[in-house]
Amino acid sequence: MRSRSILSEPLQYLEGVGPKRAALLSRELGVEKIEDLLYLFPHRYEDRSTIVPIASIRDEGVNVQFMGKVKSAEVSSDRKRLTVIVEDESGSMELVFFKGLKYTLERLSPGSRFLFFGKPSSFQGRVNFVHPEIDAPPGPGQSIPTGVLTGVYPSTEALRNAGVTNKAMIKMVGAAIGVGLRDVVDPLPEYILKERGLVNIRTAIYNIHFPSDGNALFKATGRMKFQELFLLQLNLLKQKYIHSRNDKGFVMHSVGAPFHECYKSLPYDLTGAQKRVIKEIREDMQSGIQMNRLLQGDVGSGKTLVAVLSCLIAVGNGFQACIMAPTEVLARQHYANIRKYLAPTKVKAAILTGSSKSGERREIDEGLRSGEISIIVGTHALLEDKVVFRSLGLAVIDEQHRFGVEQRSRLWSKSPGGIPPHVLVMTATPIPRTLAMTLYGDLDVSVIDEMPPGRKPVRTIQIDESKRYALNKFIKSEIDSGRQIFVVYPLIFESEKSDLRNLEIGYENMVRAFPFPPYKVVAVHGQQPLEEKNFNMEAFAAGRAHILVSTTVIEVGVDVPNASVMVIENAERFGLSQLHQLRGRVGRGSDKSYCILVRGDKVGEEGKKRLDLLCSTEDGFVLSEEDMKMRGPGNMEGTQQSGLPVELNIASLTHDGPLLTDARNYAQKILDDDPQLKEEKNAPLLEELSRQKYHKEDFSKIS
Ligand code: ADP
Ligand code: MG
Repeated sequence: MRSRSILSEPLQYLEGVGPKRAALLSRELGVEKIEDLLYLFPHRYEDRSTIVPIASIRDEGVNVQFMGKVKSAEVSSDRKRLTVIVEDESGSMELVFFKGLKYTLERLSPGSRFLFFGKPSSFQGRVNFVHPEIDAPPGPGQSIPTGVLTGVYPSTEALRNAGVTNKAMIKMVGAAIGVGLRDVVDPLPEYILKERGLVNIRTAIYNIHFPSDGNALFKATGRMKFQELFLLQLNLLKQKYIHSRNDKGFVMHSVGAPFHECYKSLPYDLTGAQKRVIKEIREDMQSGIQMNRLLQGDVGSGKTLVAVLSCLIAVGNGFQACIMAPTEVLARQHYANIRKYLAPTKVKAAILTGSSKSGERREIDEGLRSGEISIIVGTHALLEDKVVFRSLGLAVIDEQHRFGVEQRSRLWSKSPGGIPPHVLVMTATPIPRTLAMTLYGDLDVSVIDEMPPGRKPVRTIQIDESKRYALNKFIKSEIDSGRQIFVVYPLIFESEKSDLRNLEIGYENMVRAFPFPPYKVVAVHGQQPLEEKNFNMEAFAAGRAHILVSTTVIEVGVDVPNASVMVIENAERFGLSQLHQLRGRVGRGSDKSYCILVRGDKVGEEGKKRLDLLCSTEDGFVLSEEDMKMRGPGNMEGTQQSGLPVELNIASLTHDGPLLTDARNYAQKILDDDPQLKEEKNAPLLEELSRQKYHKEDFSKIS
């Protein structure tokens, strides 16, 4: 019985721990039980197999080991600092200590020899060591005392201050292994170990902490990474299977007349990717199981059309459909586009937002209740209780991360007979494939990975303040040849702490540089009254204004094909995907387009890297991969709110992509044979998946 084993004993009973340390380890590292210590893996290893001559040591940011004789040891007059000089045949080295002066002074008596280990640092142009590790040198015939590869454990300042050094950690882990390893049950059945050529769990755990050589370590980490990714995917796929068995959906047999009417009158062909995705959606909608599909596609890839055609399938089968947008501006824009697509059909659409007038609103409520309105576009207003549908069959949600799970579930109650509508979530934030597989592993994901033909590449340029005059001249020439300009700022109002050129001042500067007439500059931001915002937005969309100064409210979806220049002020303040989204606002018409990144004077290394990267590619997926490498999967836009379904301990979504795919395929194979893991041979897997960590609250992102 796992729960009774020594593994679940609190850490304080472990030799060398005690209640004080146990509390500290729990607070600092979340390590509570003996088992937790077994799974607290080193985050790197030090190779202490070599001893280098002192003269060869440079400040290169890596740990080195050297051996030397103490020449002198001296405490400063304020008694705050101990300086020790050590020498070998090649030269001498300064060591500095700020703590434990008395003890260290006694130990490092002049003439004695030690092994020193640590990271060199530079002080006034010289290399020295601050608080190096000190070990007795190997005796005659002995090799170097510590193992060849020494694990370095996660640590914190509080731990170090309390004297919990890496050495102490190694000791504790060793003790935990001594008492607990034999109780560890392998979550992977024997047959999987054989098929995959994996070492068993006890060997893996032991060798991760105390590898005898690189090969043993490689096998151990390989096994643990596979296990982690495999179990994660097994869990997601199993949930997906349960969903597909239990969640009945409306059956939409045919494509229907409205679909064909719209399709036939399109002035262009669908892209291959659009066709493929529509086919996937069609199959879902006629399957009898509720669709839960995420549609990913870069800005401008033609998601709106896919959404409309999906709605028309619902309408053609006698159902209603809704399209929800995160903001009023976007809802209006969607509505305008959708009306164009619907023109050749007799399908009636309407829009409902927070600012719909009450008379209008009554009409819409009635139209939805009676079924006269087939497609409704709107904002959160659609979720209100008084909105009742006759037969809601499909809900399209644009930009999923702005809708909470609970809000989405309110749509369910709007469907007839308690059957939930099909759900299609669209996002223009490309997520790396590995992340999508993990975040949305229990959903179906469709990707539009092809742009409609005729999209011109956007030229992306970085400039700084010194080029302001040239920039304005360029903007003028663009406006004079009939184009429009976006200017985006990171902030709305000036804050005392910040030196950002903000929207308010920016707007004034633009008006001064581009006076009316002939130029017209409008501003749009989140703190404006809705009417003013819509009015200005429409002025720009209709071409009455030449320059739109805004915050990121225009980030998603806004479509003004005549706009050819996107100026982003203080571009380094934006995230990579956000910049990419903004850039996607131009390049939609047939003109040559530009994205101009105006750097602030305080760009950091990271910011510089982001801007360079953005200039180097227009592929949203490449950018999102890079973004993930720079910031880690947990900090990506679009994942921050939902978080990863299970925290990864050893595998990395950034580095272990191929292994993840492999693990997922293998998990699928196991489930194909035994969907509920009922077979005796899979009992360990079922037992493992019943553990707490696989059952987070907000597990499924859509339904
Ligand atoms: P998204 O919503 O993915 O950002 P949109 O649906 O707004 O993209 O489409 C961007 C532009 O491309 C729109 O002007 C749309 O009319 C056009 N478009 C969509 N599909 C195609 C296609 N297959 N061929 C040519 N143009 C297309
Ligand atoms: Mg769109």
